[in-house]
Amino acid sequence: MSWQKSSQTIPESALLNVVKDPGPDQLGQDVWAFLRGLGGPSAIWVSGQDASRTRVVCTLLHGNEPSGTHALYRFLRSGKKPLTNAVFILASVKAALTPPVFSHRMLPGKRDLNRCFRPPFEDEEGLIAEAILDLIQTLSPECLIDVHNTSGSGPAFGVSIQDDPDHRALTSLFTNDLIVTDLRLGALMELSERAVPTVTIECGGASDHPSQIIAEEGLHRYLMAEQVLAVPDLEYMVNIYHNPIRLETRGDAPVAYAEEPDPEAVITLSPQSEKFNYGTLTREECIGSLGQAGLSALTAKDHKGNERLEEYFEAHDGGLYPRHPIKVFMVTTNATIARKDCLFYFIGCNPGQS
Ligand SMILES: [Zn+2]
Repeated sequence: MSWQKSSQTIPESALLNVVKDPGPDQLGQDVWAFLRGLGGPSAIWVSGQDASRTRVVCTLLHGNEPSGTHALYRFLRSGKKPLTNAVFILASVKAALTPPVFSHRMLPGKRDLNRCFRPPFEDEEGLIAEAILDLIQTLSPECLIDVHNTSGSGPAFGVSIQDDPDHRALTSLFTNDLIVTDLRLGALMELSERAVPTVTIECGGASDHPSQIIAEEGLHRYLMAEQVLAVPDLEYMVNIYHNPIRLETRGDAPVAYAEEPDPEAVITLSPQSEKFNYGTLTREECIGSLGQAGLSALTAKDHKGNERLEEYFEAHDGGLYPRHPIKVFMVTTNATIARKDCLFYFIGCNPGQS
């Protein structure tokens, strides 16, 4: 697909609330007033010093991941003029505002918006995702950053579907770790396939203080730097992790986080499991207590759809153990996310197994 020259303005949209160069009255007293003023999925245009180029920031695809929203609110409040035109897309505003605020990934009964960026665009979430994709296509930006928080506590990292200098350069504005995945889930970062370099930035946990600093400082660099895509011959010191595998329960079976095994759950993990994040799990490390179904309640398919569970894990003494050292990411202690999304991502630590 070929994209035209960057748009000099933002088009109106039936599904997105479009705001152009918001003044102080539109920003409200605080981030809550600002979000209430937006009321729903929104795109905010801020004219840049170089009006011929546009960069896009998306955030709040998940309503319980506030770091990107706080960071862009502070930027808007600063009154700074970004180097290029900037468009901020805030998606799940309604979910974020639903009490308790910033606690709903999506509203009950709705689909995860970051799984909706591929056809069919039929239900409400699909249509919002389509409207966002249409807007981005019209804007023809030089790149896009999608800012998230991890569901557990932990350090920041990027996620991309491509490993090339541009994606490394974008990641390096925020963090030095990049997960590159061939898995396609309908996530916004799959835009990289449509000639817009796109990186998902996971800033760390929503309640981790460093997440806020990472989001603010990274966003400032992204918006104010003359060049955010790769500078030729410059080496970006970014660690790359290819194709992590998701450990999931079969059929969204329940997961528990407790000190004692929960008889209702197919696996019970420690409430402190987040400590595994970014660590290496050895064969001696018990990941959790398995229910009666044992290993058969779990699944770990790679990006090609091959089952890898028994290659990486084994059950003994009622517990789940790695067969080889593995490095884990995105460990959650939220039982709903563990059940419906995954318990964590992992890669083998042995050479050639990444
Ligand atoms: Zn997210």
